[in-house]
Amino acid sequence: MRDHFELRDGDAAGRIGELSVPRAGVTVETPALMPVINPNIRTIPPAELESAFGAEILITNAYIIHSGDDLRERALSEGLHELLGFDGAVVTDSGSFQLAEYGDVEVTTREILEFQYDIGSDIGTPVDIPTPPDVSRERAEADLTRTEAALSDAESVDTGEMLVNAPVQGSTYPDLREEAGRHADATALDVFPIGAVVPLMNGYRYADMTDVVAAAKRGLGRDAPVHLFGAGHPMMFALAVAAGCDMFDSAAYAIYARDDRYLTVRGTEHLDDLDYFPCSCPICTRHDPNGLRACDEGERERLLAAHNLHASFAEIRRIKQAIRSGTLLELVESRARGHPRVLDGYRALLDHADQLEREDPVSKGSFFALSAESARRPEVRRHHDRLDRLDAEGRVLLTEGGTPSGDEYDAVWRVVPPFGPFPRALSETYPLTATVPDRADAAAQRAAAEGVCRVVAANPDADFALAHEGWPDAALGRLPGGVAVESLAERSDPGDDRG
Ligand SMILES: [Zn+2]
Repeated sequence: MRDHFELRDGDAAGRIGELSVPRAGVTVETPALMPVINPNIRTIPPAELESAFGAEILITNAYIIHSGDDLRERALSEGLHELLGFDGAVVTDSGSFQLAEYGDVEVTTREILEFQYDIGSDIGTPVDIPTPPDVSRERAEADLTRTEAALSDAESVDTGEMLVNAPVQGSTYPDLREEAGRHADATALDVFPIGAVVPLMNGYRYADMTDVVAAAKRGLGRDAPVHLFGAGHPMMFALAVAAGCDMFDSAAYAIYARDDRYLTVRGTEHLDDLDYFPCSCPICTRHDPNGLRACDEGERERLLAAHNLHASFAEIRRIKQAIRSGTLLELVESRARGHPRVLDGYRALLDHADQLEREDPVSKGSFFALSAESARRPEVRRHHDRLDRLDAEGRVLLTEGGTPSGDEYDAVWRVVPPFGPFPRALSETYPLTATVPDRADAAAQRAAAEGVCRVVAANPDADFALAHEGWPDAALGRLPGGVAVESLAERSDPGDDRG
């Protein structure tokens, strides 16, 4: 077990955790958002990030500090916390980003880690190779070999109480990301950034991002704190947390503000297109879009950056509360309804329902079926697996409502799409306490039919009849041959008890 990261609560693969940062003497609650501070440009002073926004941790670039004579001398003499004016935890990046952008940096992992230690960084980073998406497999493998060598170098540096990042690379090759995760997890290093996803973020490729995260998580241990490096847009935080990410860094708040872009949980707006602010942060309640447009450029940038940060931190708090309440996937559903690319990400996440199911709590507060995607949630998967173990004997009626045809049965089980059948005695157990729409969609009915298949297969000696509320052929066609089927929807008497 890593003793610096403790898990407190979970939902899907998302979790609330506590990251102890010994050098800073602080404990950071995750999911956490780290504002990025460019040591040369401070849109919002770090002290204000702490006092006005509640930032417990931030990230800055040790390579930029190392490269500037004045900054380097001040950082070495005063220390990073003093230089920035920040008491919380300070993470430093190594120059890997510059390596990706400009092809070369003039430091080694040993040099930059020793420098990070000397300036008082709390979490340092080796010089890994950030391999972009979609490169050739040969390049991704060769880069990964160099990244893994950088992690070995990092392990050999004496960094005292400073925690050290172990970046996970591998481009868009899931097997390489998984291998990279396994390798990083086996090192003595402490925090696990999933690297080089910025091009996926910029291209709104949230499905690919989700696959990359899911692959890395398969390699990493459950107790590994995971940082989605370079992900700073609040529209995808809930999705990424549900996939198992614990930390984000936002340069977006400042970069977007610089060209009048306004972040929301449903996407990005341009200030020119807004007549109203859909937000109740201090900036948006004190100003309207016209007022902001009238500000001079520096002031406008500062105010937009402040709103962008408020919107980002509010989403992190909303996510934490959703984890506490067991409604994280409901939150992801609502974000997915805000933007088609987030919907793609959610659909990709549900491709990994088995993986989520292994971490998802057995019992939560409530389950709201909100969309066709709800039928693919891990809770439905788990109920289907449970059906393999439920005994049924004699003649069993599985019904969505009343009892058809006045027949006599040995047992009557309820059927609720998307879960399918279950004995009435389980009605009060999670997730069968779910609130589902009265008007089930075809995906939910197909999933319920899958549940019928599972219970029939598990009980070959029992006789089953299904009474359903007008399921489509796509659902009925999945049922095994021996099941007697009757539609409750086609019955002539509209006053029948539908339960
Ligand atoms: Zn606002």
